Amino acid sequence: MGKTFFLAIFIEMNEKNSKSLTLFHNSYPLLKMQTLRKQSLVKLSESPKVFEKRNGDSEEYASNVFNNKQLQKFISDKSFRQIQLCIEKGTQIEASLADQIASAMKSWAVSKGVTHYTHWFQPLSGTTAEKHESFFDLDISGDQIEKFDGDQLVQQIPNASSFPSGGIRNTFEARGYTAWDSSSPAFLFDKTLCIPTIFVSYTGEALDYKTPFLKSLQKLDDAATEICQYFDKNISKVTAILGWEQEYFLIDRSLALTRPDLILTGRTLLGHAPSKGQELNDHYFGSIPSRVSDFLSELERECSLVGIPLKTKHNEAAPSQYEIAPVFENANLAVDHNTLLMDLMNKVAYKHNFQVLFHEKPFDKINGSGKHTNWSLNTNSGINLLSPGKTPMSNLQFLSFFINTLAGVLNHKDLIKASTVSASNDLRIGVNEAPSSDLSIFIGQYLLGVLDDLENVSKGKLSPEEKTDLKLNVIGKIPEILLDNTDRNRTSPIAFTGNKFEFRTVGSKSNCSKLITVLNAIVTEQLIGFKIAVDKLIESKKMKKDDAIFNVLRETIFSIKPELSKKEKRIDHANQVATPKILHSYITTKSMDLFKNLEILSERELMARYQVDLEAYISNIQIESRTLGDMARNHIIPTAIRYQNLLITNIQGLKEIYGTSYKKLASEQLIILEQISDHIAGINEGVTLMINARKRANAILDFHKRAIQYADTVIPFLSDIRYQCDKLELTVEDNLWPLAKYREMFFVR
Ligand code: ADP
Ligand code: MG
Repeated sequence: MGKTFFLAIFIEMNEKNSKSLTLFHNSYPLLKMQTLRKQSLVKLSESPKVFEKRNGDSEEYASNVFNNKQLQKFISDKSFRQIQLCIEKGTQIEASLADQIASAMKSWAVSKGVTHYTHWFQPLSGTTAEKHESFFDLDISGDQIEKFDGDQLVQQIPNASSFPSGGIRNTFEARGYTAWDSSSPAFLFDKTLCIPTIFVSYTGEALDYKTPFLKSLQKLDDAATEICQYFDKNISKVTAILGWEQEYFLIDRSLALTRPDLILTGRTLLGHAPSKGQELNDHYFGSIPSRVSDFLSELERECSLVGIPLKTKHNEAAPSQYEIAPVFENANLAVDHNTLLMDLMNKVAYKHNFQVLFHEKPFDKINGSGKHTNWSLNTNSGINLLSPGKTPMSNLQFLSFFINTLAGVLNHKDLIKASTVSASNDLRIGVNEAPSSDLSIFIGQYLLGVLDDLENVSKGKLSPEEKTDLKLNVIGKIPEILLDNTDRNRTSPIAFTGNKFEFRTVGSKSNCSKLITVLNAIVTEQLIGFKIAVDKLIESKKMKKDDAIFNVLRETIFSIKPELSKKEKRIDHANQVATPKILHSYITTKSMDLFKNLEILSERELMARYQVDLEAYISNIQIESRTLGDMARNHIIPTAIRYQNLLITNIQGLKEIYGTSYKKLASEQLIILEQISDHIAGINEGVTLMINARKRANAILDFHKRAIQYADTVIPFLSDIRYQCDKLELTVEDNLWPLAKYREMFFVR
């Protein structure tokens, strides 16, 4: 904290008697962090205000969403049908229809007291972005009008220069375009109409997560529908389904504000583990603390208004850790709802004087947070293709999708990894309860057995007896098997859980469309290959459809068997997942071909994404390293010296009273005094060496090499310096310590 920048924080009770914080930047003497920490604790012990709890009001659900029900009220049936057709087919909505929708949206929004609209998008920075425009405009005669037409609905031109582009955006052309995603409904956030959009550069390249995601959904729909046609001619659309589970920590905001590391990096870079952590397993599924429950009630209400179908909430394993999950939805809407939920959580937490931590590993030595991503495929006839059916034929359909998904994922393991790694997720993967960094798929013993049986099917045409046996005894039995088969491996990185695949390596703060775009692409590629192989057998070998399918499935199982039966390697320690190395899988020929052939991402776009992720990695470590250096030198060393001065006063006093025999009486004090000096020296030297390591890394022009240099030479200092600071935390008088301690953040609420 600089000398001229004085931060004083006053905790005051507002008229509603809720706790609120006021920040002042002023010239009063610095209110010392340790005073702040003590004040926060005192305030915390005051009885929390009880917020008005409301149960889900069915009238209220999605009342802030401009959905089909609303649209229908404003436009003719004919226009409505035309619009639905465009949305279903993913074709362009013509200008006159867009005008009608815009006018309906505006009337609806204005009737709810809304004054502004924004295109709401998901740039590669990993947050959501918005640029608010007022409906207010002037007509030619200078009179005030409210204006919002099709043009404004369909496109906005924000300046793209400050968003990550990975080199795509030319310096002379800063414009970017946002374009309406008509498949996700507009909604109200505060007094603003938010219109979900994609975000592309002037030259048409994707600058966001949504653009390739929507393309991948369309490609998957096309490929999966073709496979469904083998089994059911009525299936004309396949939709990817997503159900996420959002883990997070919730801690008191006034305590969080004493910690520059939490505020700047989202995690604690220092902090000794408390005497009690999660050993007693007394938090998991325990009763939700009342202050948290108040927060959740208000959050549920906010979510209900914008149509986020929250369903479950519970305490997670670590102290102060929780999870919230909705009913699954179509993947595009589910991703929008997850990003919106994170914004809403921040907003509601602020009102309740909480700080939400979405970071994957905010605290050392206890569990981190993930975003389990559950994926399945639904047909327009309402069938989940990853759920076994009642007849052998529907089970053959199930097996076709199940086996091809397995094959796609195993064939592109590295790409799946690349879509989930980050500097922060590296701290979680492979540690404690988190999934291992070695990607394996858990499908359970029974399904493995089914695959064994299928692998033994004879080559070529099947005899009638063999086919009957297969249908009756192998695939005919699958539903029973799955119902009985409840064994679930909780920490496997990917698991088939009866009717969906669950991906557990996704980080809690990441946008899960990153993984699903990759998953959709690899499954699409696999399904296209499957269809070509089956059709070839039908045409050239004159095989029956089911014989051909059995044969191709057998071959597929044969090719993935070695990978599938591999035992998961558990590597239980941090930083085994080196993000910079794994990210390279994005730009291998295999990956480039996959995305290019499916027209989901061009080589240039992939290169850009690779570069954006590398830059984010470097910046995150750089910020953590700077923050730790600041804290070590500006907070920890001065605090240690202050405590040393107390000890020195004590030792001098003993000397005055006892003369030469003071040494015996002050022997322990002298030892502590020296230990503190050793730690101070260690910390100070560590910070100097870390700064030098950063300088050397920053001089490397190649991003990949620079990121690896950061991983290898800067990261080790983060734990070395921390170790020494944490030792001091245990030595220095509690009253002097400036940062909220782990035990306070975990257990004081
Ligand atoms: P857990 O994994 O904690 O045991 P569940 O398996 O019950 O919890 O479900 C967690 C998530 O899975 C929820 O978000 C839910 O919406 C989602 N989910 C359930 N069924 C499906 C499905 N068929 N496809 C995709 N997601 C699903
Ligand atoms: Mg789960």
